[in-house]
Amino acid sequence: MRAAFVENGRVVLKEVPKPRPGPGEVLLKVEYALTDGTDLKALLRGHPIIGNGPFGHEYTGIIVALGEGVEGFRVGQRVVGANTGPCFECKMCRVGRYNLCLNLADNMVLGAYAEFLLLPAAVVRTNLYRLPPTLPPKYAPMLEPLACVMHGVDRLNLKGYENVVVIGTGSIASFFVLLLKLQGHRVAVLGRNPKKLSLIAENLQPDEALTYDDHVGRYDVVVESTGRKEVWENLLNYSDRGGKVLLFGGLSSGTFIPFDAHRIHYEELTLVPSFHHTPHSVRRALHILKDHWEKLAFLVSGEFPLERIGEVFSLMVRGEGFKYAIRP
Ligand SMILES: [Zn+2]
Repeated sequence: MRAAFVENGRVVLKEVPKPRPGPGEVLLKVEYALTDGTDLKALLRGHPIIGNGPFGHEYTGIIVALGEGVEGFRVGQRVVGANTGPCFECKMCRVGRYNLCLNLADNMVLGAYAEFLLLPAAVVRTNLYRLPPTLPPKYAPMLEPLACVMHGVDRLNLKGYENVVVIGTGSIASFFVLLLKLQGHRVAVLGRNPKKLSLIAENLQPDEALTYDDHVGRYDVVVESTGRKEVWENLLNYSDRGGKVLLFGGLSSGTFIPFDAHRIHYEELTLVPSFHHTPHSVRRALHILKDHWEKLAFLVSGEFPLERIGEVFSLMVRGEGFKYAIRP
């Protein structure tokens, strides 16, 4: 089968053996994979887990083979799932912090830009679902990033907080706008890309859409979704007294950010980091996606066959479009 690999900063297609599912595993024929920012980061600056391996982790497909002992699924079913599953045995899992599972890297889905995709037993057991009939396969792979955003919103615990500013104009920022609006918050979105900002405004109706040239006030809650150092450095400027700041977009190892200790202490500003997703956030993200995928459809900027995946990443490097659907 054909599969895409990252090799020295380039995307290459290779012919590799079709995987066979071991105990608890499931083999899918990939229907759609969606590109995302993590894949782009892996390509541009390397990634500790992806390395030079197969990549792509947002997927939906049809089950073509089941490993020994798999229950609840059968060949021919359309499914969608997350990219990891917790081990339920490590120190973090035992206290319910499944997103921080110490064995995440051993239970990871990698290689969705391929004809077939092998799902690890931990994913099959906890984070794999039948595709809801009302959810078109092209949009279903948004499940995984939406689940991460759902976890971020959970971490904020926003009871009593009203005004939120979401910083960024990518798909992650868009998911935050959708979920926070659904929860009844007043949501502003702030970003530097006017074209993407106006698409978000048109499709998700945030209360305000601001560029850095506009006057940006202070908010009860600030959500960082860009993963850019210069944005992290300015986050407190947007936070009101008593505010919460969600640190969602990750930075590379060894990055240090100075924050104003005086304001953090005397104004009780709370910095809340958020990483990855939990089985609970995946399950709820699927419900949201099933009911609201039409509002998010604008995030799929184009559809390409697997042979043209190189072109897709060139578009992404240039910042064109949100996400692209890859069809093997
Ligand atoms: Zn674990």
